[in-house]
Amino acid sequence: MAGEPQADCLFCKIVAGDVPATIVHETATTVAFRDINPQAPTHVLVIPRAHYPDAATLAAAEPAVAADVLSAAAEVAAQEKADSTGYRIVFNTGAGAGQTVFHAHAHVLGGRGLNWPPG
Ligand code: 5GP
Ligand code: ZN
Repeated sequence: MAGEPQADCLFCKIVAGDVPATIVHETATTVAFRDINPQAPTHVLVIPRAHYPDAATLAAAEPAVAADVLSAAAEVAAQEKADSTGYRIVFNTGAGAGQTVFHAHAHVLGGRGLNWPPG
């Protein structure tokens, strides 16, 4: 069924507590934790507890939860004090755009200057 945990999904395992992560923010529908390979002083991943392969499928199936991910990302940025200097919310979608984990996730990047356009 759509949204159900997937046995072979790393981020479903983090949601379940089966893989450790440094969790910085949680809601009923989302979990946020530090990226294991940070690309900026603040680099937090915000994920829905439900499994969808990317942001587009999440938004199509559960738009309220997609909105929860965005709200949680903003709360994380404020908590990390990245909101005063600017931050970026990124959803890599598809292998060609650098997506490597196929459970929807927002990257929250901040704490340094961020170039535009990204590579
Ligand atoms: P993507 O490349 O799919 O947009 O982002 C996946 C992110 O997950 C990468 O930035 C990568 O560093 C991070 N990541 C991969 N494995 C782990 C892990 O086991 N724990 C944590 N905290 N982050 C991970
Ligand atoms: Zn998953």
